[in-house]
Amino acid sequence: MKKCILFFVFLSFFVFDHARLCAQNIKPSGGPTLVIHGGAGTILRENMTPEDEKAYHTKLKEALNAGYNILNSGGTSEDAVIAAIMIMEDSPLFNAGKGAVFTNEGTNEMDASIMNGGDGSAGAIAGVKTIKNPILAAQAVKNNSEHVMMSGNGAEQFAADQNLELVDPSYFFTERRKMQLDKLKDAEKSNEEGSIKKWKDYKYGTVGAVALDKNGNICAATSTGGMTNKKYGRIGDAPVIGAGTFANKICGVSATGHGEYFIRNVVAYDIAAIMEYKKVPLGAATENVVMEKLVKIGGGGGVVALDVKGNISMSFNTPGMYRGYIQKEGKARTYIYKIEG
Ligand code: ASP
Repeated sequence: MKKCILFFVFLSFFVFDHARLCAQNIKPSGGPTLVIHGGAGTILRENMTPEDEKAYHTKLKEALNAGYNILNSGGTSEDAVIAAIMIMEDSPLFNAGKGAVFTNEGTNEMDASIMNGGDGSAGAIAGVKTIKNPILAAQAVKNNSEHVMMSGNGAEQFAADQNLELVDPSYFFTERRKMQLDKLKDAEKSNEEGSIKKWKDYKYGTVGAVALDKNGNICAATSTGGMTNKKYGRIGDAPVIGAGTFANKICGVSATGHGEYFIRNVVAYDIAAIMEYKKVPLGAATENVVMEKLVKIGGGGGVVALDVKGNISMSFNTPGMYRGYIQKEGKARTYIYKIEG
């Protein structure tokens, strides 16, 4: 009897975990390729209206098409990821730029990074409050400075010197994100576990893109407002090269999820390293990291990735991840939940 109960407990964990795991691997098209995400987390069909779903699909498609137009006309993967990410940063739907989540102090502090696999160059900014499109500042650090990462006031000063658009911090105020902060703070005050979990789950929503251009160069980029209610200048994985973003001549990866786990496990680089050292294909490498290693330690989230042949992988261990891809034929395909397409 005892054995039987143990078996069912084991089985229920197995079923529970696998119900949340998703690996969507797409074969190469032989042309320019772009894959994006708009964050992973507890994205459940029952909490979304048809209008919400439509809004996400429309914005993801807009981002994919913008990147594709650049790639298709011979533009670089760097320009393509920047174009796709800026569209998502300008939308209040995602936790990046305009839709960034709130810190404990009621501010919005953003992180972003970009890495070009072709030449190995990288740039990142962290904890910025006034840069309208943080990804442009990350790119400027990469291309126009001798550094890889800048933070806070210094990064803002650099962005100003680079003539990037700065805005009043109030630009990043959205009712929806403020409400999420208030609900999470109330839940933490009353110490209700269920409701803390519910509002914490809304922390995810980072955006990312990885592109392969006609010259075979890969570029990956990620932009985020971080996690709701973050304190003390907390910085997540998104601006950490190797954790939230990585690209080389083999593959490119952009991550989303609980940043602390992604930093400790150097997630984006781990995928690239597994491919390089173990000669494992992209899909198997992302599945190993996202669906085995991260699951084992409780690190919720996912990645989008592609390799130099144009294989695409979108893997996550949460109920949903806003995501999509576009290949040679130019049809943008977008997804939200686990089982689709
Ligand atoms: N990875 C981001 C962070 O930890 C959050 C997210 O992906 O939603 O800051």
